[in-house]
Amino acid sequence: AYSVRAVHNTCRTGTPQNFSNYESMKQDFKLEIPEYFNFAEDVLDRWTNLEKTGKRPYNPAFWWINGKGEEVRWSFEELGSLSRKLANILAEDCVLKPGDRVIVILPRIPEWWLANVACLRTGTVFIPGTTQLTQRDILYRLQSSQAKCIITNEDLAPAVDAIASKCENLQSKLIVSQNSREGWGNLKEMMKHASDHHTCVRTKHGELMAIYFTSGTSGSPKMTAHTHGSFGLGLSINGRFWLDLTPSDVMWNTADTGWAKSAWSSVFSPWSQGSCVFAHYLPRFESTSILQTLSKFPITVFCSAPTAYRMLVQNDLSSYQFKSLKHCVSAGEPINPEVTEQWRHWTGLEIYEGYGQTETVLICGNFKGMRIKPGSMGKPSPAFDVKDNPTKTASTVRGNFYITGDRAYMDEDGYFWFVARSDDIILSSGYRIGPFEVESTLIEHPAVSESAVVSSPDPIRGEVVKAFIVLDPNYKSHDQEQLKKEIQEHVKKTTAPYKYPRKIEFIEELPKTISGKIRRKELRNKEWETTDA
Ligand code: ATP
Ligand code: MG
Repeated sequence: AYSVRAVHNTCRTGTPQNFSNYESMKQDFKLEIPEYFNFAEDVLDRWTNLEKTGKRPYNPAFWWINGKGEEVRWSFEELGSLSRKLANILAEDCVLKPGDRVIVILPRIPEWWLANVACLRTGTVFIPGTTQLTQRDILYRLQSSQAKCIITNEDLAPAVDAIASKCENLQSKLIVSQNSREGWGNLKEMMKHASDHHTCVRTKHGELMAIYFTSGTSGSPKMTAHTHGSFGLGLSINGRFWLDLTPSDVMWNTADTGWAKSAWSSVFSPWSQGSCVFAHYLPRFESTSILQTLSKFPITVFCSAPTAYRMLVQNDLSSYQFKSLKHCVSAGEPINPEVTEQWRHWTGLEIYEGYGQTETVLICGNFKGMRIKPGSMGKPSPAFDVKDNPTKTASTVRGNFYITGDRAYMDEDGYFWFVARSDDIILSSGYRIGPFEVESTLIEHPAVSESAVVSSPDPIRGEVVKAFIVLDPNYKSHDQEQLKKEIQEHVKKTTAPYKYPRKIEFIEELPKTISGKIRRKELRNKEWETTDA
């Protein structure tokens, strides 16, 4: 019943799913992996046919707004035709062959989605990058990936030109701009003349489809390879089970185009279910514009990062109504129960937390119909057999298992609870302390708007818990020493006292990755450099 292959054959009508019988959902799940698989032909073009024959409810396949009144809406048929034009540009003008690599550094504009699909159609390898990359980052990516083609915009073209001579594989450059630029093909112009007849390249499920860079939470971002099977097919698991999507849904994910999360929630998961991908240009994170968009457009499923939810709940949510919204999810970092609680209070909706990595699809998640335990990342996705075995993972015996580098535990009901990235664990007087649990207790205190908890050297205990706290603006003028004591008392009262932060420092802002994750490592390194142990 839950065969992922069947997802592409059946057009679901929009009936809400109920996965309350988790065990039978896991048992019934089958992942059929055909020898040849290409998401463009096997999924997108199939939705085009269903759309043509009236078997898909009226709903765009793609809906983009720029926040200033401009909109783009495509049906699956239009998406197909435009992406075939771009496929022809890649194959003919840029002379790219299957397996050649294409770096795409674009903000959230429609061409980014076309490039995704055009790479699928031509069998070329799609490598996205965030527009926040610097000249050095672009050089590193072009060299390490040996890309033959780059697609970017006016803002970044000068950076590419400055280093292009050092990239011997780079042979074509496409710019998305109203203006022409020397040495670059103008994509918008070329699209006007390109043919929309193109035959999708046949790809084996194990062939390389894309390379995504990790968030760089612990160091430089790492390249992660994905095949047509791993992401093209595998992400339908997210779409079906975690996002609970149907062809009548409109799904909005706020992630940047540079991260794997955009493949998860802005491309493969929603389109695998025939849903509409909603996108907002949104060059900067603005919570009010996110809240306005959520109330103005018929968005039914919303995906965002914990950092974003933490900022959203700081607004007066009582002045917004989210009429269409029915399902909210979060991933990338653990989400504090206090934030989930406030979101539920104002929207009446739960946040269904999911856990995974750039390297994987959804590993654990909360599924519709399942009882949510706030703070838990839910149960294993039907595709994974997740084990909690610290001694085994510590040893070299890894068998068939993929080691995530994260620590979590499973409770008696089979729910998983995130403790920490292995390198963020604090060892104090023999206790192992995960920073997230302490941070979640801290944020319950009205003075705390955000915090990061790390280890700090201590002559007796080895390490102690230290909290870096961003204060709520209303508390900035309070007596700081008094506040520290109050906050420490609060933690001692609400959680096991050994976890309370013996050291507290107030700071203006937490260091974060460009995708918004807290970089505890940076704070920890400073502690260990500057404090005498
Ligand atoms: P890098 O690998 O470059 O250091 P990264 O691990 O942060 O960066 P991603 O692949 O974007 O890069 O993130 C995956 C990691 O995010 C997971 O290994 C885990 O530590 C964390 N994570 C994701 N979802 C959750 C969640 N729901 N709860 C807790 N942690 C999560
Ligand atoms: Mg990682």
